[in-house]
Amino acid sequence: MAKKTSVPKFTGKDLEYYKALMQARDAVMGRMRNHAEDALDCSNADKRGATTHMADVSFDNSRHEMELRMLTEEGDVLTLIEDAVKRLAAGEYGRCQDCGEMISEGRLAVRPYAVFCVKCKERHEKEMHR
Ligand SMILES: [Zn+2]
Repeated sequence: MAKKTSVPKFTGKDLEYYKALMQARDAVMGRMRNHAEDALDCSNADKRGATTHMADVSFDNSRHEMELRMLTEEGDVLTLIEDAVKRLAAGEYGRCQDCGEMISEGRLAVRPYAVFCVKCKERHEKEMHR
């Protein structure tokens, strides 16, 4: 008998959340492909940098760095989505991983992979920018 792949069976509201997460994942993967291609374009441009003006080269370099940074950020989101699916399977989905309060439906609609409620998220951002 063929072993079943680990796609959990979600029903009702959980299925809605699962679909939203899969949609978000597809969107992120699509964006990652674009960034990867752009980053590649930039490295190719670097190789013929000898004939270009300094200003152009530095512009290309900063754009290359930006594309790579974007790629890392999208990768982080992908991890968040995978974690959210795990929480969904564990029945813990939608709970703030900091204060334990339920994250609002509105916030989950925008960021289905949200880890923190708005209050905790804002607090974390303030701490980061200090
Ligand atoms: Zn919270």
